[in-house]
Amino acid sequence: MNMNTNGAAPMLDLQDVAMHFKSRGRGFHTTTVRALDGVSLTLDRGETIAIVGESGCGKTTLGRVSLRLLEPTAGRVLFDNVDITQVKESNLKGFRRRAQGIFQDPFTSLDPYMTIRQIVEEPLIIHGVGSASERLERVQWALDEVRMRPAADFLDRFPHLLSGGQRQRVGIARALTLTPEYILADEPVSMIDASSRAEILALLSELQERYRIGYLYITHDIATARHFAPTAAVMYLGRVVEQGPTVDLINNPLHPYTQGLLNAVPEPDPANRLAERPVLPGEAPSPANVPSGCRFHPRCPVFMEGLCDVVEPPLVQVEPDRTVECHLYGAEGKERVGRDTGKSVSGDAEIV
Ligand code: SF4
Repeated sequence: MNMNTNGAAPMLDLQDVAMHFKSRGRGFHTTTVRALDGVSLTLDRGETIAIVGESGCGKTTLGRVSLRLLEPTAGRVLFDNVDITQVKESNLKGFRRRAQGIFQDPFTSLDPYMTIRQIVEEPLIIHGVGSASERLERVQWALDEVRMRPAADFLDRFPHLLSGGQRQRVGIARALTLTPEYILADEPVSMIDASSRAEILALLSELQERYRIGYLYITHDIATARHFAPTAAVMYLGRVVEQGPTVDLINNPLHPYTQGLLNAVPEPDPANRLAERPVLPGEAPSPANVPSGCRFHPRCPVFMEGLCDVVEPPLVQVEPDRTVECHLYGAEGKERVGRDTGKSVSGDAEIV
């Protein structure tokens, strides 16, 4: 059983989670789409972990599995030590109160025919919370918490009368109204204007401090992860390939994919823009056609023939709080390149 630093079970514990779909190809041919392929991570109350990767890497599927909006085909999803994949939907009400989601598109995730009051009140009605007047009080409290003030002015408005940033605040108020312990924040700022992004992330941080909410923050943008999530996990084609403190991942990325992702971030300093920074070549292969060995090998600039295309890379613990899944850091790869890969990859890096 995984333990957190206090020796207790973590709030959310994803263990070797896989999500494979059968997909019908041409004629009668079916293929297996490996959206998730053995992902493990833990999240505690009051903690934020960013899940970073290109579109199609499995990050949104992982988020949906964590809320049991999708049932994984293998692995366990423990919430306070209870495997929610084994609980009947009819018995999940307690979990559904404690775990909520904020989704990417504030323009489609709110019902345009419902008022703001109805949208924010709906989870309370579903969970049978309070009388009508208590629920109204709760809705006003939630709107006030997300700084839609005075709350009474927003109750009878419809979503189309709000800006993108205000709509996302309504989405947060809706998630907050049941005072959850866990929130999946799936690209919560990617579709709102740049000026509102920092405000929304600051608001989520404030709410976390006040209510000890744990966030799984799904993003394609490693730059926003730096300011919001102390820990990040980088996903590629259904697997976590590197995990550790976000600042370390950004300042000293170890996995060639993480390096490529960072090189693709626009550089505001013209001097650095001129420097040679290899970006990721090509596109990620389809999860219906996962390459052999290391799944990143067709795009990897330092790919080792006969090893990377044949043998799956080991998961290597390079620091107590940092792991990477790449042959460059395993014994076989080090021997092959005939050199150590640098200070952060010590000779006693442990294969886990
Ligand atoms: Fe590149 Fe090989 Fe590492 Fe994969 S295992 S990222 S192909 S060096």
